[in-house]
Amino acid sequence: MKPRILIVYTGGTIGMIEDPVSKALKPFDFSHLMENVPKVKMLDYEIDNIQFTPPIDSSDMDVEHWQMIARSIADNYHKYDGFVVLHGTDTMAYTASALSFMLGNLCKPVIITGSQLPIGEVRTDGEENLITALQIAADRDETGCPTVREVAILFENYLWRGNRSTKRSADNFNAFKSNNYPALAKIGLGISFDYDALRKIHRALPLEPRYNLDTHVMSIDLFPGLNENLLRYQLSAPGIKGIVLRTYGAGNGPTQKWFIDTVREAVDRGVVILNVTQCVNGAVHASRYMGGDYLAAAGVIPGHDLTFEAAITKMMYLFGLGLDSNEVARRLAIPIAGELTITPQR
Ligand code: ASP
Repeated sequence: MKPRILIVYTGGTIGMIEDPVSKALKPFDFSHLMENVPKVKMLDYEIDNIQFTPPIDSSDMDVEHWQMIARSIADNYHKYDGFVVLHGTDTMAYTASALSFMLGNLCKPVIITGSQLPIGEVRTDGEENLITALQIAADRDETGCPTVREVAILFENYLWRGNRSTKRSADNFNAFKSNNYPALAKIGLGISFDYDALRKIHRALPLEPRYNLDTHVMSIDLFPGLNENLLRYQLSAPGIKGIVLRTYGAGNGPTQKWFIDTVREAVDRGVVILNVTQCVNGAVHASRYMGGDYLAAAGVIPGHDLTFEAAITKMMYLFGLGLDSNEVARRLAIPIAGELTITPQR
């Protein structure tokens, strides 16, 4: 049986062309993209596609688009062996994170890719990325099961776990990285999978898609000079349910009383505050310094080694399930789709 793959084309640089007047890149249709990758026909796969009309620059990505992608996969889950999502790089890591939570019990490959240069350009990275993504989506292990059973980002030389990935370069072909988790595969002459890093599914359960995401969440970055009134204002924004607090180093914040009191008051009002580090690598160890310890004592949840993209989408997902703040807080610190590694906090 030929592998059956569904491509979901959302837009992004990979399919863009230059606007004749402004010279800016703008999304273009899927047939243009495929005309520029004749090599796809050399793969002996059955490939179908679903496209966004119109395709979008991923800076326009929103919750409704995530719902459309998740629905395209869920509605066709039984018909295909794997899924390739073509997507702009700017918000790819957010989409990958959101989909990893929305597609409960996923045990087929959902490979997201795009490119830094449009497919029509001579030095494009789009052709190689698309072909490799299709090959990974079709790959099976020796037992006949899909090798990848999770949402992953394929870009240039690496396959990364989607909810561990971050866009790290606006210029390099290797645009993504997972700073706290190994690559799922390295792409060179061949595709070399790291079987220990890949997500293991012990029992294949029916896919359980969850489309509802609650956007009453926000993020606050700590920086020296943070203004008390502005912080208080943000923490009491009407409708706010959850905040990802981007702290220093191992999860530290100021130890001043006004700061801790302001945070505690918000927690007491039922706002869930999740502590993630501003560092690109490493995890929150709340009790290592006083600043982190005070935050934990005020009821701030340690985000361990979550990326910001995974933290904010996980909050949207958990509140979208209709859970109360205590339950959201509890589940934030527990892995759902391999997005975090629990580090002892004491
Ligand atoms: N702005 C583009 C997008 O995210 C960038 C890209 O695709 O690389 O859609």
